[in-house]
Amino acid sequence: MSFKDLQLINPLLKSIEEQGYSQPTKVQQKAIPKVLEKKDVIVTAQTGTGKTAAYALPILQHLFKKQDAPKGGKVIKALIVSPTRELALQIGNNFKAYGRHTNLRTTVIFGGISDKPQIDVLTKGVDILVATPGRLIDLQKQGFVDLDQVEILVLDEADLMLDMGFIDDVRTIETLCPKNKQILLFSATMPFKVEQLANSILKSPKRIEISSTSTTAITVDQYLYYVPKRNKIELCLHLLRNTITGNILIFRRTKFGVNKLETTLVKNGYKVDTIHGDKSQTDRQEALKKFKNGVVDILIATDVAARGIDISELDIVINFDMPNIPETYVHRIGRTGRAGQNGIAYSLCSADEKNYIKTIQQFIQQEIPIEENHPYPLDPKAKAIVHKSKESKSKHKKGRKSKASKKKKRRWY
Ligand code: AMP
Repeated sequence: MSFKDLQLINPLLKSIEEQGYSQPTKVQQKAIPKVLEKKDVIVTAQTGTGKTAAYALPILQHLFKKQDAPKGGKVIKALIVSPTRELALQIGNNFKAYGRHTNLRTTVIFGGISDKPQIDVLTKGVDILVATPGRLIDLQKQGFVDLDQVEILVLDEADLMLDMGFIDDVRTIETLCPKNKQILLFSATMPFKVEQLANSILKSPKRIEISSTSTTAITVDQYLYYVPKRNKIELCLHLLRNTITGNILIFRRTKFGVNKLETTLVKNGYKVDTIHGDKSQTDRQEALKKFKNGVVDILIATDVAARGIDISELDIVINFDMPNIPETYVHRIGRTGRAGQNGIAYSLCSADEKNYIKTIQQFIQQEIPIEENHPYPLDPKAKAIVHKSKESKSKHKKGRKSKASKKKKRRWY
């Protein structure tokens, strides 16, 4: 199938060609016709699948066609709500790129920076507004954002939005838009609370599911290293020195962990920057820019800060800490191998994280190949202890761990 088959108009086909896209991705093939039919849709797809274009292209097409009718040019007609600033910026950039042969105006608003320039742009008038919930509500209350004429509302990364506690804000935003709007809900996963939200605000939605396993894992070569926790930094340095080349995104679970690893890598001569929740918006954007421009080779990030960021030509992802949620593993490795490019994901797993591997492998329906040839193998005793402790747990099904197993647990560290 080609983009032409999707009945897209010439100004969009032209910019798609300039982007170098030769054919629509799966989510685009399925979602674009439904959005053009003005249906509400629920799409289960993660970043990396081309989901932004799946809603941006039909929205641009709809608004471009409507422009022929004489009307006031200052009203917001499409609103995209995004949980994070990075994702909002990226969505805004996509709208600008895809819409460059239309005269539709897109702007992005988010918190953490002065609202003055955002207010100036809003006052001049925009067609498409991309926003994070807090700043949107703030500027709406101050009278700078009028959602009365919104025709299409997109809730992107709905699961993350709810995880981050934005449920009330999302509901408020939805009620600020007209009743008869079209709603497009995109979510990487579909937990109960997202279903609940969807059921309460969407009208007879069409459902589209793009399975995360087939879209990301297949293009990513994955390697699993079992390693004692205390040796993770040495193994990471060993891999950086001997195995890995290219630009690298390293995931850690905590901000503290990110900063600690940054210090070690800098001491070892690597050019590194970081993204996490304690950093100002300007610092985060600066870090991303430096990484994209090749000023630094390594970016270390926490999950929330990194979700949704689009770094093209990303070579390597390292899971320095294993995620305890299987979907997070897929999101992380989805940073590489994007849109058909090949990427590599290295996972460093200590004894206490072994159970996470089991659930991840069940979720992705494949075994991650184990790389045993490295200088810091996990003590075979540690494996035995894991095994024993599991046994002792199952003997104490009512929940209390035996003293013996607690003691053994401590010995892993
Ligand atoms: P997204 O899932 O929207 O974050 O998109 C992931 C990446 O895929 C972005 O870098 C897009 O520019 C790229 N992309 C989107 N659609 C296509 C396509 N049809 N062909 C090739 N790359 C695409």
